[in-house]
Amino acid sequence: MSRIGIFGGTFDPIHHGHLITAQSVKEIRNLDKIIFMPAYISPHKQHAKASSAQHRLNMLKIALDEIPFFECSDYEIKQQTISYTIDTLREFKKYFDKIDLIIGYDNIFQFHTWKEPDEILKLSNIIVLRRKSSYPIDYIDKYVEAAIFVQTRAIEISATDIRNRVHANLPIHYLVPKNVEDYIYKNNLYKE
Ligand code: ATP
Repeated sequence: MSRIGIFGGTFDPIHHGHLITAQSVKEIRNLDKIIFMPAYISPHKQHAKASSAQHRLNMLKIALDEIPFFECSDYEIKQQTISYTIDTLREFKKYFDKIDLIIGYDNIFQFHTWKEPDEILKLSNIIVLRRKSSYPIDYIDKYVEAAIFVQTRAIEISATDIRNRVHANLPIHYLVPKNVEDYIYKNNLYKE
């Protein structure tokens, strides 16, 4: 039975921080593959303006194209509604027995506000990316206790910074894969 990871996010755009971290998680958790899951609308970023779902998905596809153990799914995008993790997990549980849900360090401390957090815990392992630079844990609830913290490399790259740099006509090479960089310029993203 395959062990998969689901790595959700906005991915606007996907960058090397995501890729390097996902590679570490795959190794540490001994996963067969990781499915990158771009949200149609993230419940936590409902008021933020994101690039079109199609652009975000296209960038993921070209970034992951040649990596056999990374895939992306258009499941949440196809739902065309707010992307709640529990709904996605219920769907993927039909096909995969063991699911690692990969979330960022900050997310675990807000986890109690997610939709049906106890059900999420029943359907998946919560894997928290604990970067070496992460601040210490000073909040504990049952979700923090149940989570599995994995020590990943600290790669200080954020999509916000990339968007800001493109907007300011600063280079973004080394921050994103070359084909993603080309896609951003070709489609004139992040200029508005
Ligand atoms: P933004 O700057 O737009 O908020 P982001 O770079 O944090 O975006 P997301 O798409 O929100 O990217 O990230 C998806 C997941 O990846 C989140 O759980 C986030 O915590 C995690 N993540 C993002 N950047 C890194 C990084 N450099 N290292 C490790 N995890 C990261």
